[in-house]
This record gives sequence, C-alpha cells and structure tokens, in this order.
Amino acid sequence: MSDIGYLKRLFQAYYKENRSEIPVVNLIKEREFGFVPWDKRTIMNRHLSFKNHESITKYLADEGPRHVYSSGALYLEPDNIDMDNKEYQGCDLIIDIDVDHFYTTCKEDHDLWYCKECGKSGKGMPDKCPNCKKLKLKTVTWICEDCLEIAKNEIIKLLYNFLIPDFNINVKDIKIAFSGHRGYHLKIENNKIRKLSGNERRDIADYLTGENISFELLGLQEKGGNIFGISKMAFGWSYKIIKRIEEFLLKPKDIIENLLMDEKQFNFNKNLVKSFLNYQDDLLNTIRSENKNMWTIEGFGLFPEHQKSVKYTHPYNKKVDFARIVYSIYIRISIFSSELRVHIWTWK
Ligand SMILES: [Zn+2]
Ligand SMILES: [Zn+2]
Repeated sequence: MSDIGYLKRLFQAYYKENRSEIPVVNLIKEREFGFVPWDKRTIMNRHLSFKNHESITKYLADEGPRHVYSSGALYLEPDNIDMDNKEYQGCDLIIDIDVDHFYTTCKEDHDLWYCKECGKSGKGMPDKCPNCKKLKLKTVTWICEDCLEIAKNEIIKLLYNFLIPDFNINVKDIKIAFSGHRGYHLKIENNKIRKLSGNERRDIADYLTGENISFELLGLQEKGGNIFGISKMAFGWSYKIIKRIEEFLLKPKDIIENLLMDEKQFNFNKNLVKSFLNYQDDLLNTIRSENKNMWTIEGFGLFPEHQKSVKYTHPYNKKVDFARIVYSIYIRISIFSSELRVHIWTWK
C-alpha cells in the first residue's frame, strides 16, 4: 500500500471513531466547504455544501480528507461555483493571532534567517538583514510552547480587554480554535457583526491594534511639560492607558527603577529615574482622582520626540513615553476582511 493510501485510511478511521468529537458548524447549510484530499493532483475540492452535521461527519469518514475548511461567509447558494452567484449574506468576524507576525524572545533560539543578498545568516526575527540592510531574507521558523503561550495570552487580552468590555460581545458567540500554524483563530458568530463591511472590519482592526491612535481624541494634551487629560473614569483606550500606568506605579520601587533604566523599555537616565520615583505616590494619587487630571512626569511626554503618530513593530525600537504604554496594550492581530470569502477556519 502506498504511504498516501495508508494515511488516507488512518484519517478515515479517525473520523469514524471520533464522530462525536467533530465540532458542530453553526448555520452549516449556508457555508461553503473545502477539502484538501490526499491525492496530490487536486489542490482543493471547493464549493461543496452540506445539509446537516450528519452529512458532513459521513463525508469525513468516507473520504478521510487531509484538511477541512468551512467558510466564515454565509451564502444562500454556498455550492454555486461562481462567487458572484453564491448570494453573500454576511461573514463571521475572524481574528487571527499568529506569532509569525510579531517578535517573541524564543525566536532567538529557534528561528533562523539567511540573507539572499550578502549570504549572512543568524538566529531570531530581524526585519531586514543586519549586515546589508536588504529585505531579502529566507527564514526557517519553528514553534515552541512559549510561542503558543504568548499567542494564548494575546487571545485572553483580546477577549477581556477589548471584545467584552468595549464591544459588548457575548462569550457564547465566540469560538476559538488552533489555527493549524503558530497561533489561534478567534471567531465571532453574531448577526450584527456578520453584516459589517470590509471598511468597518478594518476600523475594528485599527482599534484593537492601536493603529493611528489619537491622544488628542482621547482628551490628552501636553503643555509645557505637563500632561492634561484623561482620568480613570474614562473608558475604552483612555481607561486602558490609565490602568496600565496605575499597574506600573503600583510595582515595587526597584522593579520600576529597572524598567525605567532598561534600554529596551524606557531608557531613562539616572536623574530622571530618581525624579520619577520621588513623584511615584503623587502620580498615583493624581491618576486615581476623579477631579485632578494634570500630571507632570519629568522625562515622560505624550509622544516620543518628533513623533506624531504611534506605531511600534519591534520591542527594540528605542522610543519612550506614553506611546510605549500603547505598545504594551495593543493586540497583535490580523482580521480577515469580508472580501475573503472562503476563509481559513481550520477544523481541528
Ligand atoms: Zn544581507
Ligand atoms: Zn517559540
């Protein structure tokens, strides 16, 4: 028997034995299904639809496919082979958290890169070749427990810092699954959300990632070394920023000192650290107060010098200040826009 034939039989047996474990797909009749078979001549069998859960479990046991996909989009005619005639009805909001897209320290141990331009190689996840500064890098990536742990933490942040408090999403509408790669997919199955346009989905992505955040719109102003603005009574991003500063101020002095001095964090000099620690309790009182909303923190401005917008992509970016707080809060995600009609919801 060929290896492929053997694997197919194993999968058929697996699906047969684990029939009761196969997750039920919500609104199954309105979704398009796709399967990657073991036969390498076919890339994917698409435009398939199923009437109910029993018919899909039977298909899996009969065919034992290698990969199974169902669309995030809902259609009146999911099996129509012409996308324009499927009659699109909406799409679940799917958020992808994948450690491939952001830096984690464990990558220094298990990810390799090679520069096609100058031939230099090394470990980690550089944006460009540290030697010739070109972008033509070939990478070999790996996944470890730490990677998955970091991705899980991002999911927890996404749920409890954003989706539930800011968007009032009900936990019962949320499904989370391993993405089959280095992370997780979080799917929101809710009728209002399904109707969102591509632009509206991008707006949500911007909000979650703190992209183009405007401190001015949040009510923060910097005048003559003082910061005026938000109090803890605020909500949304204002609240998150204040809460993060409060958490920071509640840490023991020696930990604050280390963080402020750490060149990868705030990179403060000794005098600034001293002055910051002298005002630690005052600052805490100020941000906890409902009335006072002016704080003076030496060396601590709204924006890094000369920077008008906030965008951090790498923790080695040596910029300090308020914007760095944003960096510690935002979610590292990508959102599939509704144009992506057949999405990658791996059935795991
Ligand atoms: Zn190079
Ligand atoms: Zn790792």
